Amino acid sequence: RLAFQQRHLDAQTQQWLDEDERWFLRQSLSTPCLNVATGAEGSHIVDLQGRRILDFHGNSVHQVGYGHPRVVAAIKSQLDTLPFCPRRYTNRSAIDLARRLAELAPGSLEKVLLAPSGSAAIGMALKLARYATGRHKTLSMWDAFHGANLDAVSIGGEALFRRGAGPLLPGTEHVPPPGLAARFFGQDGRAHERLADYIDYILEVQGDVAAVIAEPMRWTTVELPPSGFWPRVRASCDRHGALLIFDEVPSCLGRTGTMFVCEQTDTTPDILVLGKGLGGGIMPMAAIVARADLDVVPEGALGHYTHEKSPVGCAAALATLDVIEDEQLLTTARVLGAHALERLRSMAERYNLISEVRGAGLYLGVEIGRRDELHANARAERLLYRCLEAGLSFKLGGGNVVTLCPPLTISRDELDQALDILEAAMSGL
Ligand code: PLP
Repeated sequence: RLAFQQRHLDAQTQQWLDEDERWFLRQSLSTPCLNVATGAEGSHIVDLQGRRILDFHGNSVHQVGYGHPRVVAAIKSQLDTLPFCPRRYTNRSAIDLARRLAELAPGSLEKVLLAPSGSAAIGMALKLARYATGRHKTLSMWDAFHGANLDAVSIGGEALFRRGAGPLLPGTEHVPPPGLAARFFGQDGRAHERLADYIDYILEVQGDVAAVIAEPMRWTTVELPPSGFWPRVRASCDRHGALLIFDEVPSCLGRTGTMFVCEQTDTTPDILVLGKGLGGGIMPMAAIVARADLDVVPEGALGHYTHEKSPVGCAAALATLDVIEDEQLLTTARVLGAHALERLRSMAERYNLISEVRGAGLYLGVEIGRRDELHANARAERLLYRCLEAGLSFKLGGGNVVTLCPPLTISRDELDQALDILEAAMSGL
């Protein structure tokens, strides 16, 4: 990583950064950055050296690619008419978006609240569960990330964010994530059943849990539990009076070949949390869609974010939904996803550094070595930096899982180009 930074935060970059910007980089406590982005279009990010990098990371916001002309046009047009909407008012775009999300969401999920970020939407979902059940406890998964705010960190399970953050919200019980079920509940193929039983047991003995919150498909490591797991958890929630909240902030809107991941799980949650790509890769935009009958909250008590009904964000979201529908991006995700999966499986046969290939639609994971293997993370990191140099960016989830998350607007040629880069980078690792 250091070698990469030295090569790419090079003299040109240093020159470009004036004194103030260098000060910012030194002082900034947020995510460390590798380079300066100067442009983004379609499936590519452009860096300061003018290199066009296929962006299979994109923080999962770019279902319709970067700067889709229809999304940009919708934003411009909204800017010309109503750039902001004070809370006292509502606006056409917000109403249309709420109706659209209610129509799209499965089952009786139709109560829509808009939010300015996924973290804020998670907070709304937790508050709604508290109001609806009169309880405050939650059950969630270790290792889960649900957002950066303190409430999301409290129910989340990532050590990095929890350690040193001081007393977190009380009443959260964590269980091992489904991806680690076999480690704790046996290697005989019944681990997920036992994990579901364990969840049921906790809900029973606690007796007053407001909600189980989880990602139906764990995003960082690309893990979808076997069919049957979520229906069992759903049944337990019903038995013990807890709500089921599905966090689909990064996974919603077609990534996995269906509009929502929950459609692939035979399970409808009580509250669905959406975000990221909803803003078309441009605007911060998120939402919760809840069961219609969870209408128990004093008016205005859940949201109250200044930008929650952002007309520009809502216009971007409506255009994004139009693009997904008109360009049939769910079909693209399935077709190109199947093609990519086949190529990755063939790579797995030829490169023994790959231990598993998995995924759904255009969200694919390539596990490098085994999670508990000594050098797996270091090898995965070397692979990442090789790919970055050759023009492909992706996220490493859980330290050793290459997560491939391209725009759904990607062409087959671009996809093959990315897989060629990945394959070339594997030789000799
Ligand atoms: N939930 C999940 C699963 C996420 O991955 C994220 C962000 O990465 C969030 C919630 C929080 O979303 P945001 O960054 O928009 O606050």
